[in-house]
Amino acid sequence: MIEESVIKTVIERTDIVQLVGEFVQLKRRGGRLVGLCPFHREKTPSFTVNADRGAFYCFGCGTGGSAVDFVMKMESITFPEAIERLAERLGITVTHVSSHSHGDESARRKARDRERSYYQVMAAAEGYFRAMISAPGGGNCLGYAHRRGITDEMITSFGLGYSPDSWDGLVKSLQQDGQSLEDARELGLIAARDSGGYYARFRNRLMFPVHNVRGEIIAFGGRVLENGETAKYINSPETAIYKKGDNLYGLYQAKMHIAREHYAILVEGNVDVVMMHAFGFCNTVASMGTALTPKQAELLYRHTRRLYVMYDGDSAGKKAMCRALPILLGYDFEGLYAVELPGDDDPDSYLRVYGAEGMTALIENAKSLGQWCVEKKCSDILKMPPELRKAAFADLSELLHGFPDTLTQRHYLEQAARLLGQDMGRLATELGMTLSQTAAPAAQPQKSNDKEATYNRIEWIVVYMLLNSSAKYESFMTEQGIELLQDPGLRALVEEYSKLPERTSTHEILGSLSEHSRNLYERIICTELDVSEQDYEKWYEGALASLIDAWACREHQQIGYRIAEAVKQNDESTITELLNKDRELLALIQQTQQERKYCWQNHV
Ligand SMILES: [Zn+2]
Repeated sequence: MIEESVIKTVIERTDIVQLVGEFVQLKRRGGRLVGLCPFHREKTPSFTVNADRGAFYCFGCGTGGSAVDFVMKMESITFPEAIERLAERLGITVTHVSSHSHGDESARRKARDRERSYYQVMAAAEGYFRAMISAPGGGNCLGYAHRRGITDEMITSFGLGYSPDSWDGLVKSLQQDGQSLEDARELGLIAARDSGGYYARFRNRLMFPVHNVRGEIIAFGGRVLENGETAKYINSPETAIYKKGDNLYGLYQAKMHIAREHYAILVEGNVDVVMMHAFGFCNTVASMGTALTPKQAELLYRHTRRLYVMYDGDSAGKKAMCRALPILLGYDFEGLYAVELPGDDDPDSYLRVYGAEGMTALIENAKSLGQWCVEKKCSDILKMPPELRKAAFADLSELLHGFPDTLTQRHYLEQAARLLGQDMGRLATELGMTLSQTAAPAAQPQKSNDKEATYNRIEWIVVYMLLNSSAKYESFMTEQGIELLQDPGLRALVEEYSKLPERTSTHEILGSLSEHSRNLYERIICTELDVSEQDYEKWYEGALASLIDAWACREHQQIGYRIAEAVKQNDESTITELLNKDRELLALIQQTQQERKYCWQNHV
């Protein structure tokens, strides 16, 4: 567990404007900052930041919270991870309590320092490769990139570079930069010579830095400029900071777009990712040639619930797509789709012929990945002579058994039977499946979305002003003002707010409120009333007068009923008492209505 004081300091010292500004271009609008929401797609900004209160709220999709919530949502990470991320930005050392002994703690710190120095070496290497692509000697590489349709913009945003055809260029550069060559060797950038000294491992290649989700460089992929005798791609070996199959290429650049589009596209290769981004499909990532791993599926799942798999159109790509399905089914995706590329196309070659429009059509026509895989297996079976089908049937059986519930299994079994022209019962026996019909899983209750809820406008203004002024809030509460609030949501918020300990940070306030109140609170503190400072007090008094008026009218009505009751009972004294009370109420109504008229005539 992270020490409480560290959490506090991190929350206090994080500047939400600076933080959000790393992801969203913010513009000042009145006392708030607005920008395009990173959590949903929009053309006019409704994403709002209140710098003083350290909170954000999107009036479009209702996402809101503190700086910590922002990092958690943006990077799909847990609370402790978010605190560590923010601490790192601020240069604060994170200390943990109890669960680790002192020795563990210092070992952790050592490991983290070690990691940091590795990242520095990688960044230095990237800087060198970047410089080389625009240096005179890099013309060949730049020309190659341009011929392949990789624009300068993409070169910049993916940090592409050139490793020159030189044995010691990188070695010298790292040396001049004061980087540890031994670290560079451990990271697979350079290799040791038998005769002593080092040489560069990547030569005459277009370099693709591989980032982790935080943007640190953990590996490189290098592509030859001309297909020839050497390997087309070479990648960094596994190192202390890079494990094959644990990362997705392009996720760092794509994550914001994935959040906004609510889906991701998975392709095979680095160049495919770069080209997809160049054509506007910025929510694309790659599994880097290797077959999809459970770790990568988990990483995808942390960022999206809808995934489009688009591997190469050749038979290896199709096989890899089928193999991805059972891995993806291990996670609770809402939608898994297969985008089938025609012939031997890969995303890059397809885009070059059919452009963004063709790609959009392909994505829009995507089948469910499950259906696609069943169709693929069945067509494979039909192409084989009957005596060779045994293994293929076993494959199909495995595929069908992989679906999470029997209802889905049955659905695809039915489909397979139709495609194979077989009786469903016989096919089931052949595949070792039972046909028991289970009830459909209970429908998930729809999560109520509060963003459309409308509140009593005048109550809203009063609560808004209360939460923005502690003086107003205090006097409102001492005067039992809460009785004036009729809206259950607003009333609950004010009640919950009154129970909070004093002087807590926005993050703590948000953490203590119920979900509904929390959302309302985020929304209120990010709203800005279109009212000038000189009118502010008048507005408050006017709004308050309206509420008092409404309350008095309600009371007046109640008293009317009670008087009628007392008259029936001939209860003289109660009648007199109630009449007196009613007279007071009527005077109050008259007074507040005048005040209201004065304050609101130009506004409401
Ligand atoms: Zn939004």
